[in-house]
Amino acid sequence: MAPPELRYNGQTVVVTGAGGGLGREYAIFFGSRGANVVVNDLGGSFKGEGQGSQAADKVVETIRAAGGKAVANYDSVENGEAIIKTAIDSFGRIDVLINNAGILRDVSFKNMKQQDWDLIYKVHVKGAYKCARAAWPYFRKQKYGRLISTASAAGLFGSFGQTNYSAAKLALVGFTETLAKEGLKYNILCNVIAPIAASRMTETVMPPDVLEKLKPEWIVPLVAVLTHKQSTETGSIYEVGGGHIAKLRWERSKGAYLKTDDTLTPGAVAAKWKNVVNFDGAEHPQGPGNAMEILETASQLP
Ligand code: NAD
Repeated sequence: MAPPELRYNGQTVVVTGAGGGLGREYAIFFGSRGANVVVNDLGGSFKGEGQGSQAADKVVETIRAAGGKAVANYDSVENGEAIIKTAIDSFGRIDVLINNAGILRDVSFKNMKQQDWDLIYKVHVKGAYKCARAAWPYFRKQKYGRLISTASAAGLFGSFGQTNYSAAKLALVGFTETLAKEGLKYNILCNVIAPIAASRMTETVMPPDVLEKLKPEWIVPLVAVLTHKQSTETGSIYEVGGGHIAKLRWERSKGAYLKTDDTLTPGAVAAKWKNVVNFDGAEHPQGPGNAMEILETASQLP
């Protein structure tokens, strides 16, 4: 038997950066499953230069031609209020926000200009914040919201020539983890994905035969599941691409305990280093270590 078709009838979904790449696929999907879609795109180059309305308009036309409901918005994500206003003015509500817009300014740290750093921060971090900030009061009031933000393997693991992008993308992990905690009692679920897919962002760095196996539409089903009303998943990080979906979590070694007196010296730390870095019996924490428990154990050392 075929699995059930997830639907979003009557819901409003805002997808930022939906004029191309992954965002376009999300928008077309939600438009085909009963949602009202706000197709936001500034329409510039992948380096964040220029702007235009064509990219968003084309996606809106595609959704409407297939019988769906969509409107375009051409604001930069830095003006999140205007994007969410388009959703409210056009459809009267917002249920799902997908923070997807992004650009690259790859350059080695040695050669990075202030503008490369600032622009990446503005689009990825400030943009995601501004859109979420504008949607949040609606989510809280209706006790329903689904938020996806887009990180990257570059943020999780580091990537040569991408200090600006890595920093911004990992910021969205912390952003999501905290919003998940704040949103929980209002049924606002927040998750973050690190996708890998063929798009204008990756077409210059990967060979065509690899890109062929990384279709952007294969990112959509995970996002669809996480944003569906039946989902209960929140505060999670996923890697997704090429037909593989995996959840990531933090790992904390059991660590070393040192007596909290004048014996806590650099030499004492060095002597216990193998405990600090030994992951045998590690835990998977959802919060910081319990300070009282740590102090208690340390104070009981012989
Ligand atoms: P893409 O360049 O095809 O799409 C990004 C879209 O965002 C573009 O249409 C662009 O016009 C739009 N955009 C850029 N700046 C904007 C702004 N200020 N306001 C509104 N729209 C803006 O790239 P993509 O690969 O589809 O990337 C989508 C997201 O996924 C990005 O956040 C990217 O960093 C992330 N990502 C992609 C990959 C990948 O393998 N493709 C890997 C990791 C992360």
